[in-house]
Amino acid sequence: MLPESVLNRAAAEMLDYAGSGQSVMEMSHRSKVYDEIIVGAQQLLREVMNIPDNYKVLFVQGGASLQFAAVPLNLMATNCADYSVTGQFSGKAHKEAQKYGLANCIASSKDQNFTTIPHVKAADLTPGADYLHICHNNTIFGSKFAELPETGNVPLVADISSSFLSEPMDVSKFGVLYGGAQKNVAPAGLTIVIVREDLLGKARACTPEVMNWKLMAENDSMLNTPPCWSIYMCKLVLEWIIQLGGLTVMQQRNEYKAKLLYDYLDKSAMFSNPVQPKFRSLMNVTFVAKSDELNDMFVKDAAAAGFVNLKGHRSVGGMRASIYNAMPVEGLEQLVAFMADFERKYA
Ligand code: PMP
Repeated sequence: MLPESVLNRAAAEMLDYAGSGQSVMEMSHRSKVYDEIIVGAQQLLREVMNIPDNYKVLFVQGGASLQFAAVPLNLMATNCADYSVTGQFSGKAHKEAQKYGLANCIASSKDQNFTTIPHVKAADLTPGADYLHICHNNTIFGSKFAELPETGNVPLVADISSSFLSEPMDVSKFGVLYGGAQKNVAPAGLTIVIVREDLLGKARACTPEVMNWKLMAENDSMLNTPPCWSIYMCKLVLEWIIQLGGLTVMQQRNEYKAKLLYDYLDKSAMFSNPVQPKFRSLMNVTFVAKSDELNDMFVKDAAAAGFVNLKGHRSVGGMRASIYNAMPVEGLEQLVAFMADFERKYA
């Protein structure tokens, strides 16, 4: 979801942005009017996330999936890196990195069906590893890191696609943060990379230029045409977050919303959530009914009542409520009321 006020503003500015006589979709990315948008978006992101000055912010394309390759290409200087595999996307990142060197899986919750997140200590890291990669929030399994791994001087690299802007994060604890924007930040097409400056300049010679973070940083994300419209939408979303009070308020809202659903699941006799409570996601709440038949009936009845996109990812089944920043509290209240009705009806 995107905030309705943001969509309304984009609609109002659609044909003529700020008296420019053009839609943002039509602008040259090198024009003065567009420059204010991309520079503004970057400044607002720095402000909202409290990004220290020694980090670069890059607006790139290709999704988080392209960064699965960009991470080893830019950072794997000694040919060795560590991965924590706690869900589908960290598994994909790990698999991609194996093309470029020794990518060690040093922690995994696969044998527990990704219902938990193993803690990693500095002593668990492979000596000489260039970085440790994690996926901060596991979109499909509905789990999230409750505490960050301890990596000592080894840079921590995190895919934050599905927890971007959902809560305050101490950027200084990470070497690199990256994520696709399409959950909480903007429509699809934009990927954001936040990278500590001292990690730039280690890319392999074969790294495609548009995947080379140093080159992208030197060119202010304008090495080639950036995803102009998504960056504009990102700026509007950031303005909305600031207006609401920033990431602390966003976190409080998200905790309140998620609690409504988790509390119901915990007392329900029909539905349950498989994730260890400490590691429950604020953004993606997974749940199952007592049988596959009930799961199917629930998804169908829910859709008929206007609750769409509740089917769990095809790889895990069951249900998943993705309750990103823009989902209003009423959305959760109504979902919980609908689930309670369903439970009464089919108990
Ligand atoms: N990482 C996470 C945590 C995701 O949720 C997703 C997409 N759902 C991806 C990576 C892949 O992102 P993209 O489609 O932008 O390549």
